Amino acid sequence: MGDEVYLMNYIGGKFCPQTSDEWITNLNPATGDEICKVPISNSKDVAEAIKSAKIAHPSWSKLTHQERSVWLDKIANKLEEMFEEIAQLESTDTGKPISLSRSVDAKRSVANFRFFSEMIKNLKTEEFEMADATNYVIQKSIGVGALITPWNLPLYLLSWKVAPAIGMGNTVVCKPSELTPMTADLLMRAVHDIGLPAGVINLIHGNGAETGSQLVENSGIDFVSFTGGTVTGSKVASSAASSFKKLSLELGGKNSSIVFADCEIDKTVAGVVRSGFLNQGQICLCGSRIFIEEEIYDDFKSRLVDAVEDMKIGNPLDEETDLGALISREHLEKIKYYSNLALEEGGVLLTGGIPCLPKNLEKGNWIAPVVVEGLSHESRCSKEEIFGPIVTLHKFKREEDLIKMVNNTRYGLAGSIWTKDIEKGKRVSESIQTGMIWINTWLHRDLRVPFGGVKDSGIGREGGRWSLSFFSEPMNICIKHE
Ligand code: NAD
Repeated sequence: MGDEVYLMNYIGGKFCPQTSDEWITNLNPATGDEICKVPISNSKDVAEAIKSAKIAHPSWSKLTHQERSVWLDKIANKLEEMFEEIAQLESTDTGKPISLSRSVDAKRSVANFRFFSEMIKNLKTEEFEMADATNYVIQKSIGVGALITPWNLPLYLLSWKVAPAIGMGNTVVCKPSELTPMTADLLMRAVHDIGLPAGVINLIHGNGAETGSQLVENSGIDFVSFTGGTVTGSKVASSAASSFKKLSLELGGKNSSIVFADCEIDKTVAGVVRSGFLNQGQICLCGSRIFIEEEIYDDFKSRLVDAVEDMKIGNPLDEETDLGALISREHLEKIKYYSNLALEEGGVLLTGGIPCLPKNLEKGNWIAPVVVEGLSHESRCSKEEIFGPIVTLHKFKREEDLIKMVNNTRYGLAGSIWTKDIEKGKRVSESIQTGMIWINTWLHRDLRVPFGGVKDSGIGREGGRWSLSFFSEPMNICIKHE
């Protein structure tokens, strides 16, 4: 096997090889070099992982919230020790700038465990008094969960599910994206090192069509928490429906950034560019359709194009890099397809799109960030999720027209509004069909608030008490007074 790295599943507290000899080759998005081989787990591996989670469930669920919160803190401490390793692995595996994988991915992965540890420690039993009886509501664990995650924020999103799921007494089988498996493997090393009871967290590697779908279908799974694309989410929902598995779906987005003429222009340009291009535009919350009030359109456009052209594209491991590589060759082809489609649909390319190949990284997946204007809000490019470094600019005059245009997409995840008039910001927010809006900021996260979308962006909410409620079953006990 030479120096090649072969990942293993983690089942029942042991790293173990998969049953088949089938592998996926995981490539570094920036260089095209091989990082590792990822096992394709089959139905036998899936069944083994679920069995081990089932065996671990009774004793794990009997621990008190306080006892489980101590385990979450131990995981957080271990991940904190591994902070730089998380950042390096995430940057190499995803192609994102190292500064981002430190400030967002590594930081949030630790914070997720700490945050849920604190919440669970302080959970109170709710009571409802009647004249002649007392009701009290306990939150019981559900059982064994399937946690399925995408490639754009690998450990950030996996830890966002694992922490509340096990914190509420469930045991889990994780299935990370086959494109970015490295930090899921790191999490298993961390829980192994701290001696988390065997079977509480299991991990199976593999693709979606085989491993992921077999996991969701398996009758041993009691609930599914899925984050990924809308088309996959629909398959997951159909498969989970036949046995009424509890289901949470965090899916795609096509989010608007709305710029009013009375905004603080410098801060707004910086905020809108960040929202369009952070992580190469590969965040479900990215604002890729930018609506600008007519009176400032030309000025705002030229400042925005200058700011986009100022971003430094290059080696993700360089501290000064602002934009890294796209996740895969296929994803690059998708972005090029939409970039060409924008022109066919009548758009005008203001910057980007040309192949951009940082020196010595010619085999990676590179493209200069794209800004397009002149497209109808009905065009495919301004309604479909592209999930890459492309933004479209649109002019608006009247608030009613703006709201119609913004709502004219199947998605409803997030958005941002930029104005000094907070009453107007709130009024417009409330007219938008979406799960989240930021006013004069973007991706400003308080972990206590509900996170999730409407329409084709998903079902349910994560975050704070919404996560705890999804990952548990409330049970009411009513005691009649003497
Ligand atoms: P994807 O849907 O292709 O894959 C997500 C995960 O599902 C992967 O682990 C994959 O292996 C697995 N999978 C694929 N087919 C499956 C099946 N039939 N059954 C079970 N599992 C299956 O998504 P992706 O390309 O990895 O991620 C990008 C998408 O994720 C974008 O649409 C983005 O908007 C969305 N996303 C949403 C959020 C959110 O919170 N709403 C956050 C991040 C990403």
